[in-house]
Amino acid sequence: MVPPSFLDDLGQRLLAGGDPITFDEALAVAELPESDVPALIACAHRVRLQRSGPGVELESILSAKTGACSEDCSFCSQSRHWRSPLRPEPFIDLEELVDAARGAEAIGSTEFCIVLAVRGPDDRIMEQVLAAVAALHASTSLRVACSLGILTGQQAATLAAAGIHRYNHNLEAARSYFPSICSTHTWEERHDTCRLVGEVGMELCSGGIVGMGESLRQRVELAFELAELGPREVPVNFLNPRPGTPLQERPLMPPLEAVKTIALFRLVMPDAVIRPAGGRELILRDLQALGMLAGANALIVGNYLTTLGRAPEDDLRMLADLGMPVGRHD
Ligand code: SF4
Repeated sequence: MVPPSFLDDLGQRLLAGGDPITFDEALAVAELPESDVPALIACAHRVRLQRSGPGVELESILSAKTGACSEDCSFCSQSRHWRSPLRPEPFIDLEELVDAARGAEAIGSTEFCIVLAVRGPDDRIMEQVLAAVAALHASTSLRVACSLGILTGQQAATLAAAGIHRYNHNLEAARSYFPSICSTHTWEERHDTCRLVGEVGMELCSGGIVGMGESLRQRVELAFELAELGPREVPVNFLNPRPGTPLQERPLMPPLEAVKTIALFRLVMPDAVIRPAGGRELILRDLQALGMLAGANALIVGNYLTTLGRAPEDDLRMLADLGMPVGRHD
């Protein structure tokens, strides 16, 4: 049982630049009853406004090679281990990729992330990605990000030299929970790639998926493991149980719990770009705006890798209604 002044005291301390939130305090936040969610939102929103202002960064993502992945991540419909209805697609045509990027730029996105369903890139994929990045740089003013799985040091350096602004590689789950969701690679391999990204000078984008059956303690563990890596951007994905995957029967996370999770991540990582990502429409439902008020300062607009998002106009209207201007966080 936390004292009634817990959130006020915590908020005042964080706003005054005092000690960061501790693991136990973060666990207390994760365990707050629903009746405390409005006060939690107010606390997280104040921290967000102080650290990064009211702006919201928009990103579009594109699946440039879909499905048939060798890995067995139990949440993922792109794994070849599961009987998913998803149809595998080879590397996207360059013209199609550039068209998609121009469309993203037209709706206000400043980041464009090329995502491939692979364990890690081989030489052929590296060539294709480098050609795609050069085409995007030549045709748009978008900042280009990539998500190509586990990297070698040489590959990371090559991507940085090609002008990749940010590299996405999620930890996905807490170290203690990861073996429950994947057996073909380890949490440590993911962690190693995250460290490499920073070492070669790219910004790190790393987050995870919540609602996969992890405990609240493991959710907090993930937030602290991410904080230790210091990612510039943290995508918070909510499990959207995909047909044919081992997690297809998982119950949906309640919307207020999702709001609480965004606030939790904001308080643990006050300076990060926190981006509600996959599953947000399904899980937050009518609480999209509360998600933004709970400390999020970025959004993915348009579609996700294997699922559809809502119309970008709806998100843009929501941000205008919230008084949150669209722009980059530099
Ligand atoms: S999450 Fe990534 S590595 Fe895992 S199966 Fe899906 S595409 Fe492959």
